[in-house]
Amino acid sequence: MTELDPVERLLQTARDETRDDSFRVTGVMMQYYVVCKRELWFHSRHIEIDRGNEAIVRGTHVDETAYSEKRRHVSIDSTIAIDVLDDGRVLEVKPSSSLVEPAKLQLLYYLWYLKHVVGVEKSGVLAHPTERKREDVELTSAAEQRVEDAIRGVYEIITTESPPPAVQKPVCGSCAYHDFCWSC
Ligand code: SF4
Repeated sequence: MTELDPVERLLQTARDETRDDSFRVTGVMMQYYVVCKRELWFHSRHIEIDRGNEAIVRGTHVDETAYSEKRRHVSIDSTIAIDVLDDGRVLEVKPSSSLVEPAKLQLLYYLWYLKHVVGVEKSGVLAHPTERKREDVELTSAAEQRVEDAIRGVYEIITTESPPPAVQKPVCGSCAYHDFCWSC
């Protein structure tokens, strides 16, 4: 029997949460997919390590007071949590340009999810308050393809029995799983 495409599996899960073979992808999983696939695998196994506030250590913590603009927090299917501005755009706030790619994929995933699960087409804006920069983000057909490739990539990683090998990268020092990867 042909295996169900992970994109279709995710969509079917969103329609029927009681499925035995449910498959959900959160925004954080999309970020980990870009930052470190090994980290994604550990996260998918619910391995939680308290190393203080990891977001502050890694520099991904966003000062909520840095953005005074009105926005509404919206949670969908217990899977994605988005901020919607008064003009209807979906806002993703990231403090540093070094984390743009993970944040952008996360935002594109939210736009994709809104379109394909909720039936609402939105634009997005990626904001970097500390750098006073904003970037408009649109769900083009190329971006949709990128999101769907990432969904398939996430599925492949989290359904593998062992984690991908550790590869040293700048974020390792602030990663909760550092000791798993680099302590002998
Ligand atoms: S320590 Fe580095 S290689 Fe290991 S999970 Fe974290 S980011 Fe990935």
